[in-house]
Amino acid sequence: MSAEPDGPEDRLRRFATIWSRAVFPVTSTSATRPEFEQQLLPLARRLSEALKARTYDADEAKAVGAALVSVHCTDPEALSRTLDCVDAYLVLYCGEDGVQEDLRARAARLQHAMAAGFAQALRERTLAEQEAIAQAALQAQGVVAQALHATEARFRAVFEGAAIGIGMADLEGNVLQVNGALLRMFGVSEQTMRDRNVMEWTHAEDAPQTWKLYEELVRGDREHYHTEKAFHRPDGTVLWTNLTVSLLRDADGNPQYQLALMEDTTERRLLNLRLRYEATHDALTGLPNRTFFFERLEKALGAGKGQRFGLCYLDLDGFKTINDSLGHAAGDRLLVEVADRLQSCATAPGEMVARLGGDEFVALTTGPDTEREVDELAARIMNAMVAPISVDGRELTVRGSIGIVEGPAGERSPAEVLRSADITMYRAKSAGGNRFELADPEADARAITRHGLTTALPTALDRGEFFIEYQPLVHLGDGSVRGAEALVRWLHPQHGVLGPDRFIPLAEHTGLIVPLGRWVLEQSVRQAREWRERHDAAVPMRINVNLSPCQLTHPGLVQDTVDILERMGVEPDALCLEVTESALIGADDDLLKPLRRLAEMGVDIALDDFGTGYSNLANLRRLPVSILKLDRSFTQSMQQFPADPVDLKIVEGIVSLAHSLNLAVTVEGVETGAQAEQLRILGCDTAQGWYYARPGPPERLHELALVDATG
Ligand code: C2E
Ligand code: MG
Ligand code: MG
Repeated sequence: MSAEPDGPEDRLRRFATIWSRAVFPVTSTSATRPEFEQQLLPLARRLSEALKARTYDADEAKAVGAALVSVHCTDPEALSRTLDCVDAYLVLYCGEDGVQEDLRARAARLQHAMAAGFAQALRERTLAEQEAIAQAALQAQGVVAQALHATEARFRAVFEGAAIGIGMADLEGNVLQVNGALLRMFGVSEQTMRDRNVMEWTHAEDAPQTWKLYEELVRGDREHYHTEKAFHRPDGTVLWTNLTVSLLRDADGNPQYQLALMEDTTERRLLNLRLRYEATHDALTGLPNRTFFFERLEKALGAGKGQRFGLCYLDLDGFKTINDSLGHAAGDRLLVEVADRLQSCATAPGEMVARLGGDEFVALTTGPDTEREVDELAARIMNAMVAPISVDGRELTVRGSIGIVEGPAGERSPAEVLRSADITMYRAKSAGGNRFELADPEADARAITRHGLTTALPTALDRGEFFIEYQPLVHLGDGSVRGAEALVRWLHPQHGVLGPDRFIPLAEHTGLIVPLGRWVLEQSVRQAREWRERHDAAVPMRINVNLSPCQLTHPGLVQDTVDILERMGVEPDALCLEVTESALIGADDDLLKPLRRLAEMGVDIALDDFGTGYSNLANLRRLPVSILKLDRSFTQSMQQFPADPVDLKIVEGIVSLAHSLNLAVTVEGVETGAQAEQLRILGCDTAQGWYYARPGPPERLHELALVDATG
């Protein structure tokens, strides 16, 4: 087997290695590459800690950015490479046990702060250098009378060799001398430069005090000033500089010349703008992202008296199904279209739309009148979603659930507001989706946040808080119990029993589904063995276990299943794995391979919730399935009597197609005897539902099976 897995320290070191390799070629350090890596290691550690710290601390990341300057990474390219490296590898190597999406958002903020720290440190260093050169120039001026030649030669050397631009002009602004660096920055010849007057160099972005400082200096009222200033280049581009201007006096102390020292900061500035954009916008949809949204919300909540805010928190209904069944590329296109439509709903001043991640969006409105506005905003959003979205030639209907929070500024923190919005959105979803609900403080207090559940999930498995209920599967022909479906529940210490719909999506998101699924499988197979030992019925009892899509792609699936069956001494044909239809549509052969292996061994594969995805019936032949589980919605439509003849025809058609493909048909959600009879007539093989039994403890099944055997 493979070697010991790496510890966090090894991973941190690897991150530092990658970082040093990327940046070393563009540094001006005299250290060797391994020495340089040693210098980066403590910085990597600080970043790693800042990534995982409970609260975000921009100062730490700024300090790391500044430290880069002190290890001679002063080229903008070094910063750019550093940020690329942090972007691609920091979460990967240093964020093993956190919510990935949160870590990514944090990493983006860290990058931004690093860039800011870097720029500031570089600026301070440049100012110090400029200061030193100005001193040299002043000295040269001062001693000119005594040792003209020697000092002038020294000043010349500094002047010509300097990496920063240096220019001298008289007090009327006529340019007298410029060095090569300055000419290169402006992209002009010395002659052109000399023909210009300093006063002509105005730019629309000049800081208001710039020319006032200049006037003071040439009047002799000021010795020097620093500013950030833009210049027009002849080719139409803009040159940004850190500019220091000093006054040079003659031997009697009278103002004589002005000396300008400038550093080209154009590239760094562009990089910063790009970073700011990237750190605050979502790459897929171009909408502002979570970071940006939090900034704006913070501002809205900090606004003065009389100001209010209104927030719509939108989560698409059933997006996962679309993503799973049509593929991520189609899912992405859908999200882009949704983003466009949302954006057109919030165009007034004070309104904004952002994507928080996945299929979650927010719209914010601010001002004195949000009580009315937020309702209208939500209605506009619902309206914008009505028209189907066309993706790959399919017309997809998109619905969403919205949680609305509205209130005065200055009372709640952004986190509290978002939590309330999330809870309210969830309430809208539980009520069937495709609607909006208003936040209600009482409901908030009772509600369980997804965030809280997500953080509690990992320990819940270790603490044994999960348990399994079993729901019998009954043969429609003779009413005998043929097996049971294992349905997992979580006995949460505060919230009581939670159904799988509350936590399976979270477990999938965090990857915990793999160990949890393995645990469910093991428990269920153990239970199946017990049933088989207690009842030697003619047809042995079977156990159905649900598999999540992420378990399908997990490389250990086949081996884990085989191990569990062997360890428990249970035949593969006692096990049926249920996979939702949506996970298999459009699946390529690689994805089907593990299922095919299991099917070849004798494990049954059932297509769960059949009829809810966008599947192509002809496709069924390629799948290694032997059972179709008809979704509850079919059974529900048979509740009224007589049932809708069209629905009956559909079910009849599916059943006959399934049988012609040698697939057995199980129906879910049978709640009445009439439904059971109807489904039997239509040719379904087995059924499951409250009419027979609700999911319950394993002992219940003994009783049911016993009744079955004796009566
Ligand atoms: P499912 O596999 O379609 O399971 C059937 C669901 O229908 C169960 O909900 C069951 O309690 C419910 N049900 C059964 N009979 C009736 C009825 O007559 N009427 C109505 N209205 N509902 C009925 P439950 O337990 O909430 O499970 C929901 C879903 O969670 C399951 O849907 C399954 O996809 C997933 N799930 C459950 N356990 C596991 C697990 O161990 N692993 C994974 N990956 N998913 C699981
Ligand atoms: Mg199932
Ligand atoms: Mg089902």
